Amino acid sequence: MAEVRRRKSVVVDVGGVKVGGEHPVVLQSMTNTDTADVETTARQVAALAAAGSELVRVTVNNDEAAAAVPRIAERLAEMGAAVPIIGDFHYNGHLLLTRHEGCARALAKYRINPGNVGGKRHDEHFRAIIGVAVANAKPVRIGVNWGSLDQALLTGMMDANAALPEPRDARDVTMDAMVESALRSARLAEECGLPHDRIVVSAKVSGVQDLVEVYRKLAARCDYPLHLGLTEAGLGSKGVVASTAGIAILLQEGIGDTIRVSLTPPPGGDRTEEVLVAQQILQSLGLRSFAPQVTACPGCGRTTSTFFQEMADDIQRYLREQMPVWRGRYRGVEEMRVAVMGCVVNGPGESKHADIGISLPGTFEEPTAPVYVDGRLLSTLRGDDIVPRFLAILNDYVESHYAPR
Ligand code: SF4
Repeated sequence: MAEVRRRKSVVVDVGGVKVGGEHPVVLQSMTNTDTADVETTARQVAALAAAGSELVRVTVNNDEAAAAVPRIAERLAEMGAAVPIIGDFHYNGHLLLTRHEGCARALAKYRINPGNVGGKRHDEHFRAIIGVAVANAKPVRIGVNWGSLDQALLTGMMDANAALPEPRDARDVTMDAMVESALRSARLAEECGLPHDRIVVSAKVSGVQDLVEVYRKLAARCDYPLHLGLTEAGLGSKGVVASTAGIAILLQEGIGDTIRVSLTPPPGGDRTEEVLVAQQILQSLGLRSFAPQVTACPGCGRTTSTFFQEMADDIQRYLREQMPVWRGRYRGVEEMRVAVMGCVVNGPGESKHADIGISLPGTFEEPTAPVYVDGRLLSTLRGDDIVPRFLAILNDYVESHYAPR
């Protein structure tokens, strides 16, 4: 696989997790619970961490939420699920962080949106937040969002643009204003004493092309680690596809040191979905490995019966369920490649390229399923118990090919 050359950035330590430099792209997520509800938030943070989130952000929007943060951290420690927690601050971060010392200490990083810090007293409030970060030796993310871009800055840049003999497109000026807002804030943070290697930067937008453009500009102008993500990505497949498109283009160019996929779950939906999507983006690009990759054919007219679909589903479900157990027991098992194919047209060929592969019988085919291991035909399964026998071969393969931890 072609290697991606990462852009050079400084390394920021976020509660023991290294972001930037040559370190693997860090995966993060955000809760959608009321942070003041300690138990519910701690459980969701633990679930996100268990799914693979290496940093978890919580909103800190009022005194109750700020007071809850240290108790959430304690509860996570009791649950054996300690993970660095990041506080998301808007409007009143200067007040909450100075009033709640326990919160300031318990958080591993503070996220500040320069567009939502104090209006006319922006610099004063911003300095207050940075002062707390410096005193507690915490890093900060300067997180610009185009939905809340610093209006004074944007207006000034728009006015300057309008006075040009040939004014540029308003969108281009907005992209520049986002970069400018992030970099000015980072500069101000350093002037207030925050070390260069305690700053992460992001500039989130909701359109893929805008995201790519704004991050290319940011990457060219600074060496802070960059947090990637499409804001308000949306529901269902739209959110997944748009996030993947934007994040993948940038990661392929070596831009991005930590990612978050912002999906809107359906009511009662599983928040950990965003972690699984982020993992899949990184693994599909060959940047990190989290779970065995299943190459499954999409099925076609040769798999009209539910026979193939049920078997493929059984095998994939088994892999998903086993992975947490295997990951704890066997080193490198997350790099295993499994092929589950629908018929003999492409099945044996694809199976040979995988570590272990099976070609299930297509409709009207003889009910046999050749199994390939490390590129060679191991056996041909027949009868009603193809799936359990294949799973037994899979278990043997894992035990014999991956060293115990
Ligand atoms: S492998 Fe066979 S069943 Fe699967 S899509 Fe190709 S032809 Fe169809």
